[in-house]
Amino acid sequence: MKNTVNVLGIEFINKNFNEVIEILKNNIQSNKKSFVVTANPEIAMFAYEHPDYNAIVQLADMVVPDGIGIVMASKILNTPIQERVAGFDLTVRLLELGNEHKWRIYLLGGKEETNKKAVANIASRYPQLQIVGSHHGYFDWKEGIVTEEIQAAKPDIVFVALGYPRQEEWIVENLPRFSKGLFMGVGGSIDVLAGEVKRAPQFFRRLNLEWFYRLLKQPTRWRRMLALPQFLVQIFKIKLSDKTN
Ligand code: UDP
Repeated sequence: MKNTVNVLGIEFINKNFNEVIEILKNNIQSNKKSFVVTANPEIAMFAYEHPDYNAIVQLADMVVPDGIGIVMASKILNTPIQERVAGFDLTVRLLELGNEHKWRIYLLGGKEETNKKAVANIASRYPQLQIVGSHHGYFDWKEGIVTEEIQAAKPDIVFVALGYPRQEEWIVENLPRFSKGLFMGVGGSIDVLAGEVKRAPQFFRRLNLEWFYRLLKQPTRWRRMLALPQFLVQIFKIKLSDKTN
């Protein structure tokens, strides 16, 4: 079985959830610096249309298929990915492991209140975890305060919730300044950790309809969700051109 599967020019890891966690855990425990992108169809489509962002995604040590749309696309292209690996699930599992192993974490992003609430919730739910720093996501990148804080705190994991493409841009721009740590863009996960946004109930998740639940809850996102049909159109175009070759 191939270790990665290419969908729209992005190499997605083709491992199950536990295997992905095992790799990340090993990286953390051996102080290996790494950059992880959790890419859904919206992100894959954005990268496809924006070469600068695509170049950033290509620098990732691992891209995980965050969204059933990516898994569906891989099947359509006859190179099926084993399973969806949701960014939020990875975040929660890493927090659990962090609690077990007393890892150091840094939480970057979200509005000031959101960030504070997320930190408070994590601290009470995972008391052994060391939250070595946090900062809201509306800061001047050029000032470098956040970077300096992280350099000094040496976290094992930095969760970066600035929304795409900003979170991946920030990671790639700043990564050379850090000596260790897992850097992962976690987008809206911080809103869920803060308790401000609810994750889709089991029922929707089991039917792979998490996106539909979100659409019902946050109808203003509908325009962004058009990325999904556009993504599938691209996938079918690729499939058809493969057949005619
Ligand atoms: N965010 C931030 N700084 C920014 C832009 C966004 O901290 O400059 C935060 C925002 O407050 C939210 C999170 O990033 O908590 C995710 O934003 P969004 O839903 O736009 O991103 P996505 O889920 O699409 O990655």
